[in-house]
Amino acid sequence: MRYRINKKTGDRISEIGLGSAYMPETPLTQAISALRKAYEGGINYYDLAAGDGKAFPMYGEAFADVRKHILYQIHFGADYSKGSYGWSLNLETIKRSVDKQLKELRTDYIDYGFIHCQDEFSDWETYRKNGVYDWIQRLREQGIVRHLGLSSHTPAVIQGIMDEVSIDMLMFSVNPAYDYGQGEFANGSADERAAVYRRCEAGSVGISVMKPFSGGQLLSAEQSPFGQALTPYQCIRYALDRPGVLTVLPGAQSVQEIETLLAYEDQTEEALDYSVIGSFAPPQASGKCVYCNHCKPCPMGIDIGLVNKYYDLAKAGDKMAVEHYRALEKNAANCIKCGHCDSRCPFSVCQSERMREICSFMDHSK
Ligand code: SF4
Ligand code: SF4
Repeated sequence: MRYRINKKTGDRISEIGLGSAYMPETPLTQAISALRKAYEGGINYYDLAAGDGKAFPMYGEAFADVRKHILYQIHFGADYSKGSYGWSLNLETIKRSVDKQLKELRTDYIDYGFIHCQDEFSDWETYRKNGVYDWIQRLREQGIVRHLGLSSHTPAVIQGIMDEVSIDMLMFSVNPAYDYGQGEFANGSADERAAVYRRCEAGSVGISVMKPFSGGQLLSAEQSPFGQALTPYQCIRYALDRPGVLTVLPGAQSVQEIETLLAYEDQTEEALDYSVIGSFAPPQASGKCVYCNHCKPCPMGIDIGLVNKYYDLAKAGDKMAVEHYRALEKNAANCIKCGHCDSRCPFSVCQSERMREICSFMDHSK
């Protein structure tokens, strides 16, 4: 398992995490075996916006003895008082729900306490007015909540809340369909979504990814808005390539499904190459580098995707990105304009020209 560091909290987080939407549908013994398999495979990051309250005793049973080695995302606003998932902005309901979750998880602290599912500004206003945010802050002062998270599907709301409060982790729905304006949670334009990724990277706010397969649609040619299926590994790699992303949280129900997820770590670069999405990208995505590295190998050994990522971040004001760029062994200054990348890029990026632009920008950056 490869790990990424949340620069704000110092937590070392597995790039493959686990969502809990489907786990509660599984018999208890099978769920516990699957969770232990995930833990043994190196997964240490677990989201608990579960589809049903039955999930909490399962995780409690599976992880009580290894609790200090794993990290939980717990959602202040997910209510299980009726069994299955419900959404609430009511402080007393949320208090009862969180207390019950902690008891069933057999823990007395929360690694990442999440402001849960804020997709409208009016929800956030109500959340604050009802005292939920203040209560999370009190729990932080008491050490019960260690770090603050926010989950949302909506870039404009994310930006607004991030203007008001300092978060350590964002849970956001990331996949090529949503980024290209397709699907139920394709909120915000591609540029607005990219601005969220860049702000998180620049501010050292980690992103944990929900819905990496667009609810499974992207894995099926019949259901995919692109009329072509992607593999889970292509979707995971796509999400992990977005700036700011630390971990992807697919769901699973069995040991076998966990093994399939863990196999991501052993895939070849070819199997992870998601550049096929270039063939169904909308016109406005043409000419924009998505950091897929399909254009490799560069004869000069330039990591083209990474150079472009740092460039986009630097243009958005991320000073660290300029430093990271300058620390690269090979950068845009090494480009000999051979045109190999131009001929390979499925997104019609004129990369040789862009390398010249990057070189000039970085030379003039302080
Ligand atoms: S230039 Fe094209 S192929 Fe190369 S990393 Fe960017 S989008 Fe991918
Ligand atoms: S044009 Fe520049 S960046 Fe592209 S493959 Fe050639 S040397 Fe590498």
